[in-house]
Amino acid sequence: MEHLTIEDIIQFVTISVIDESSIRLASKVNTHILQCDLCRKKVSAFQTVYDEFLSNNASKNQNTVDVHKLCDSMDDDIITEDFR
Ligand SMILES: [Zn+2]
Repeated sequence: MEHLTIEDIIQFVTISVIDESSIRLASKVNTHILQCDLCRKKVSAFQTVYDEFLSNNASKNQNTVDVHKLCDSMDDDIITEDFR
């Protein structure tokens, strides 16, 4: 089984516009995390970090989330080799 990529997860967590591609991504992610504990944990970890990120940056423009900053704030053991 092919795991979700970090990019998939980041895009999924940061979806702000519902369009054809975000719906496709959401269904891909949801289908996968139903059967994969590892990716479910990563998605939920990203969601937690992203929520904190948004609340820490509430006074700034929420549409300009710095994905690299988001990744930097993740624990190293969340983004690991087994993710590839
Ligand atoms: Zn997976």
